[in-house]
Amino acid sequence: MVVGLLAGVPGGSASHVAAAIGGAVLAMAVVPVLASGRGEPPSRARSVVGLCCLAVALFLLPWASYVLSVLVVAVLAGAACGLLLPRRRVRDAVLLFGVAGGGLAMLANAFVGALLPSVVALGLLGTVVPRGGGVPRRRRGIALGGAVVIGTFAAAGCVGSTSPTVPWFGAVVVHGPREQAAVALTFDDGPNETATLEVARILEEHGTRGTFFEVGRAVQERPEITRALVERGHIVGNHSFTHGQWDYLDPRYPELDETQRAIREVAGVCPALFRPPHGNRTPLLSWLIERHGLRLVSWDVSASDWAATDAERLAAAVVERARAGSIILLHDGLDGDPSVDRTVLVRALPAILDGLRAKGLEVVSLDRLIGGPAYLPAC
Ligand SMILES: [Zn+2]
Repeated sequence: MVVGLLAGVPGGSASHVAAAIGGAVLAMAVVPVLASGRGEPPSRARSVVGLCCLAVALFLLPWASYVLSVLVVAVLAGAACGLLLPRRRVRDAVLLFGVAGGGLAMLANAFVGALLPSVVALGLLGTVVPRGGGVPRRRRGIALGGAVVIGTFAAAGCVGSTSPTVPWFGAVVVHGPREQAAVALTFDDGPNETATLEVARILEEHGTRGTFFEVGRAVQERPEITRALVERGHIVGNHSFTHGQWDYLDPRYPELDETQRAIREVAGVCPALFRPPHGNRTPLLSWLIERHGLRLVSWDVSASDWAATDAERLAAAVVERARAGSIILLHDGLDGDPSVDRTVLVRALPAILDGLRAKGLEVVSLDRLIGGPAYLPAC
């Protein structure tokens, strides 16, 4: 089940994963220390809080699709286990299990699936840290309650802002109508100097058009590519200006307008569709997008094509996951770097198109799939 849940989790860079683990360990150093008892059975209050934490963590886990959100939810699950475990002896056994299992999983971190058991194990491990003596019961209760509330909000916020399929933080288009046997192929992070127009050509050969969520600064670097896409009937959407990791947290989000201007200047159109980098958004960003008259679009099918090295396997994974109404995430670029090599996608695309057709799914542009305009009258 764990591996299944994590099948769609992107790997991220080694430094990203290391930073996430570091943050998780720090968080675990606080919550379980406050949560752990001295060895006596858990009080009724601790049991109730632990059960609540566990319920929240179990609810959030299937939604979590991003490595950081998985880690934060796993910490909450670890803390919940710490709250519920009754006796020191049990926790000693868990310590041994945690050190052995967690340590090995961390060392053998060849696939992201290993992270979840590692972090849960570490969360459990935290429960054996003895609590500070002499702290008044009332103050300990307040600290524990505060930590639980913060942990719950952090986990829910992390999942809500990073999961492409969660609508908690404002309207997001995840897929088209399921009763219609059509799908849309979307290509992020371009324009790319070798892949983008090749992708467009293959789509045209197959009698269809694609939707390209482009990065503003790359549009400015290679304006002729965006212009050609629009002229040839493909759809261009807004995918931020710099494709930064944390810019979505900026409440003003100037990158939205910067990219609209960049695309209008080179291709004469104002995109009506916006996809945030990595799918990350806040309620404020969702509100801003809506106020500008754009629609926020994510996806329901991804095969981690940015990390793929085998074109055949990539094509098979995309075709297998696609179903009626799917919005399929692919990348003709990476992070808005126009010179990056995307040969693997170009090689996989014909097989993806043929496979989708063989499955009875028509490939259409995103505006046709979800209804509504591709461009705004002005921006
Ligand atoms: Zn992107």
